[in-house]
Amino acid sequence: MLTIKFGGTSVGDGHRIADVAKIVASLREQRGAPVAVVSAMAGVTNRLVEAASTAAAGDGERYRAIANALWVQHEAAARACLPESLQADVLREIRRQVDLLSSLCQSIHVLGECTPRAMDLVSGLGERMSVRLVAGALAGLGVPAEPVEACDLIITNGRFGAAEPLWEETRRRSRERLLPLLERGVVPVITGFIAATPEGVPTTLGRGGSDYSAAIIGSCLDSEEIWIWTDVNGVLTADPRLVSNARTLPELSYIEAAELSYFGAKVLHPKTMLPAIERRIPVRIKNTFEPDHPGTLIVAEPRPSRHVVKAITAIRDLTLVTVEGRGMIGVPGVAAKVFGAVAREGVNVLMISQSSSEQNICFVIPREATERAVQALRSDLSHELARRDIERVEALAPVAIVAVVGAGMRGTPGIAAKAFGALARGGINIIAIAQGSSEYNISFCVDGERMAEAVSLVHDEFDLGTPNGAM
Ligand code: ASP
Ligand code: MG
Repeated sequence: MLTIKFGGTSVGDGHRIADVAKIVASLREQRGAPVAVVSAMAGVTNRLVEAASTAAAGDGERYRAIANALWVQHEAAARACLPESLQADVLREIRRQVDLLSSLCQSIHVLGECTPRAMDLVSGLGERMSVRLVAGALAGLGVPAEPVEACDLIITNGRFGAAEPLWEETRRRSRERLLPLLERGVVPVITGFIAATPEGVPTTLGRGGSDYSAAIIGSCLDSEEIWIWTDVNGVLTADPRLVSNARTLPELSYIEAAELSYFGAKVLHPKTMLPAIERRIPVRIKNTFEPDHPGTLIVAEPRPSRHVVKAITAIRDLTLVTVEGRGMIGVPGVAAKVFGAVAREGVNVLMISQSSSEQNICFVIPREATERAVQALRSDLSHELARRDIERVEALAPVAIVAVVGAGMRGTPGIAAKAFGALARGGINIIAIAQGSSEYNISFCVDGERMAEAVSLVHDEFDLGTPNGAM
């Protein structure tokens, strides 16, 4: 049995929902009833969050306008994807959710605050509407389907906005509720993103959490595969906006997929894949706009390929911070102080490098955090700066990180040299380099203005535009 998930763009309007229903219907024909997990229609969650936030901030009008727009959007979708005989029922359900939105926002407005608990309730309303449309569209094709709210299936702790499943309870409830449906050939259409505490208080798994919902359900049901339907042809060798001959990767390992998403590629979040990894369930990324394209299969052990390097990614809009001084040599605790200061500010460090002379530590952070990080460093290191043990704390922006990723790099000599050679020939200066001891990636920091060029050069150097030719 398959667990399949459709993202917001895949259910972006009524016609798209009709296409999704056709995909589900044909999969059911081929492989038996799948379990479907569905996101809110594209843009809906953002608007729900906006409704609650503006209401909390004292705006008594905006949420009304949003509720109205959401009604119009879902009504139009219902008219486009449902047979007339089913429209009234589905629209009544949608009306209920929209009315709930209005009354929740009204309370939030009166109270003048939106607690994380209230925000989870409001932001999860989009999925409760979209599952009705998808289940209805399936029924319209003669496919038995049932909308299911994940509050009855995915049981979590009470960390609103980023809740974590309580596995035993989730597994028990999912199996109890879903297996009988599947046995009868009924397709459960489950809300992504949302869950509930054991007491039934609604929670969410965090923004973009529908992928995680699918992995949780897929793992609890011991699905054969988990398919994530999105709007691109799987995982590419590079961002096609930067590299014209970027190509879909037929297979990737879980580790490679995780490395890629750490370095900015639009792949599944590593946390999302954990439940699948633990049970070794293959995850396939498919394109709803091109359903016949095989997409990318993410597995524990991909077939060997002639490409040692699999993909090149890049993250832009970053700052390189350098802490430098001769007094740092051999003095323990400087790194701890540096990263302690940055961590306290909640700044995410994407890459670290220290020269072996120990005169300099540099690291890369998001550009918008530059001010905060530098100030925290100057104040925490004021002693060392006054004594001139540390001579400077400096920020360089914009820089970009270009990461070369592939599990086959491990123990293969010459990968870094090849990448450096390509950049050198292109006249691109490498500002800093880091390699994790896992050896699944090498990352370079380069001038932000030359990021696209750097990605292209390295992509060509490793011949990633030419198909894999699995060995
Ligand atoms: N609808 C939710 C969001 O936009 C969850 C998801 O799309 O995965 O964050
Ligand atoms: Mg989404």
